[in-house]
Amino acid sequence: GVYTVVLESGELLKASLRGRLKLEQRPGDQVVIGDRVRVAGDGGAYTIEEIFPRETAITRSRFGGRSVKVLVANADRMLLVVAAARPKTRRDLIDRLLVVAESGGVAPIIVVNKMDLQGALAVAEELGGVYEPLGYEVLRVSALTGEGLDRFGEKICQGIAALAGPSGVGKSSLVNAFEPEHRLRTGELSRKRGTGRHTTVNASLIQLRCGGLVADTPGFSDVGLWGVRRSELDSCFPEFRPLLEGCRFRGCSHLHEPNCAVRAALDKGTIDSDRYESYRAMLEGSDP
Ligand code: GDP
Ligand code: ZN
Repeated sequence: GVYTVVLESGELLKASLRGRLKLEQRPGDQVVIGDRVRVAGDGGAYTIEEIFPRETAITRSRFGGRSVKVLVANADRMLLVVAAARPKTRRDLIDRLLVVAESGGVAPIIVVNKMDLQGALAVAEELGGVYEPLGYEVLRVSALTGEGLDRFGEKICQGIAALAGPSGVGKSSLVNAFEPEHRLRTGELSRKRGTGRHTTVNASLIQLRCGGLVADTPGFSDVGLWGVRRSELDSCFPEFRPLLEGCRFRGCSHLHEPNCAVRAALDKGTIDSDRYESYRAMLEGSDP
């Protein structure tokens, strides 16, 4: 129940949540990392008096998708880290995380780590071929050799960046390679999830010396639609957006309705079939 608050001066203080705010909280509304708050106090005890409206939110649903939990508030961008190999890149997972970013108003950037491994170039080129035309930047990096770390740094040294992606792809290694003084044990970021047996570890933002704040978000490796409503799913696919007006039926699911502009584009090959497959899988596994 105690939170660390960074003041505009850079000073850190501990604050508890004002009782009234506790009462007002509904599931999904708890104060989370990245929240902007107003604190009051007199040098001894501080309380969080107000939580300001969130500009962006990275969410996931919990317990089978009934309630939505905000993991990080006000993130400026999501660095979606994948490995070129070890572990093998999963396109479906990339698409799910892109949807989470799109739905929360967070700009996603795909970071392909482990570019030092054999075959990495072909993987990075394939990912670039699919995602760059959609407007997503695809960075190539290696925590091992330092390749691309300057550009990675540009993305984490300003505002709040959320690191997302499966465990083992090198998220901790990248932060370490960029600012070794943090000396995160590899795997440390993902252990902060609070899942598993040791649930007492708290979520936190890492303050980098370069000025950025970095949040870890879980690997999202389990199924579920993480707080994205069915009706908004299609608009989380940038390549679908210009087509949506062209479907004959309002609320077209783009699965089986006649005169569907999305499926027409799929047939013509202007929409990537794996992206469409990700859409279908998410829609069918989603909550109403
Ligand atoms: P995280 O779970 O995403 O935080 O991943 P870690 O940072 O713990 O890294 C997982 C494993 O990948 C560790 O054994 C790292 O040494 C290794 N690793 C991380 N980055 C690279 C890289 O750029 N190249 C290679 N070859 N291995 C890496
Ligand atoms: Zn349609």
